[in-house]
Amino acid sequence: MEFRDLKRQYQLHKEQIDAAIQEVVDCTHFIMGQQVVSLEKELAQYTDTKYCITCANGTDALQLALMAWEIGKKDAVFVPDFTFFSSGEVVPLTGATPVFVDVDKDTYNISADSLRSAIEYVIQNTDLRPRVVVAVDLFGRPADYQAIRQITDQYGLLLLEDGAQGFGGMADGRKACSFGDISTTSFFPSKPLGCYGDGGAVFTDNEEWAKRLMSLRVHGKGSDKYDNVRIGMNSRLDTIQAAVLLQKTGFLEEELEACGKIAKEYSKRLKDIVKIPADLGSMRSAWAQYTICLKSKEEREQVIAQMRADGIPSAVYYKKPMHRQEAFAENPVDAVPCQNTEYICERCLSLPFHPYLQEAEIEAVCGSLKKAVE
Ligand SMILES: *Cc1c(COP(=O)(O)O)cnc(C)c1O
Repeated sequence: MEFRDLKRQYQLHKEQIDAAIQEVVDCTHFIMGQQVVSLEKELAQYTDTKYCITCANGTDALQLALMAWEIGKKDAVFVPDFTFFSSGEVVPLTGATPVFVDVDKDTYNISADSLRSAIEYVIQNTDLRPRVVVAVDLFGRPADYQAIRQITDQYGLLLLEDGAQGFGGMADGRKACSFGDISTTSFFPSKPLGCYGDGGAVFTDNEEWAKRLMSLRVHGKGSDKYDNVRIGMNSRLDTIQAAVLLQKTGFLEEELEACGKIAKEYSKRLKDIVKIPADLGSMRSAWAQYTICLKSKEEREQVIAQMRADGIPSAVYYKKPMHRQEAFAENPVDAVPCQNTEYICERCLSLPFHPYLQEAEIEAVCGSLKKAVE
């Protein structure tokens, strides 16, 4: 069994994907070809945002957003303590200071209460200027944008949605990647909408930021690439990747539906033996991961070992709170305790999950898990 089986999807849609790749190779327009333009149009439409600007990966997408807002020295950027490294990595790259915020113990997404405390702490105890809140749609579940938006409005902060794991998710009738003032996603192969290499995108309704983002991704270009009006990056999406993604958007809804069903099947079997993902209510998760929480670190070790013995892969996303990463050791702002993150990091476990997971495989995973915890 594979943790995220990408081969089944390819086998199922091989003909159309091969043809799409071949078409790019035949016309040799490898950078910023027509497929990139078409994809941006389609994704803007899908997320109901005015502008989609594709780029080289999801990390660059976050950095481009902060650069477009001219975030820098003496600025504080609030980041959940429980997330993939990128969400915080981009902050010091701009010269700004990351301030880590605890997450909700059930949804694993940024906690509104902890965020408010962290902002107050920064205002009262540092000379930093609060500027941006990064909200991550962790494991595919949209963050609590109603609560977060209230706080960003109250303090005059910008909201950056890190939708790297969230593309295709929904809340309040709106699609993920439309909740931020700027939102970003990643097309890393194992993400909900993945390409065949690295890729990413930035979404916004703001024309001025969109123009700046288009300039920033091509060396800060002015009228052309050899007229440079600002310091930028080289961060474009390859035409081949856009061609692959244009094929995959055709069956994304189908896959999301399948993911929803598989998650239900898992939860039905596991609800009485482990802590399953929190109820979604009217939201839709993009199901980047199906993550359970065990009683202790020891129990998690037991489960991992049992599953491994049964030939079943599992993964710990994430082992370490952001504020404990050595890379942030210089980060001087210890604004709020992040107890929920500490708790989750020791006990969470992600199970094999993808839209093509079969009933027998779900049975095997759950059987192995039961054996281990009983
Ligand atoms: C994967 C991921 C990123 C980075 O995306 P890349 O395309 O790998 O650079 C950023 N944030 C989160 C939450 C992610 O899961």
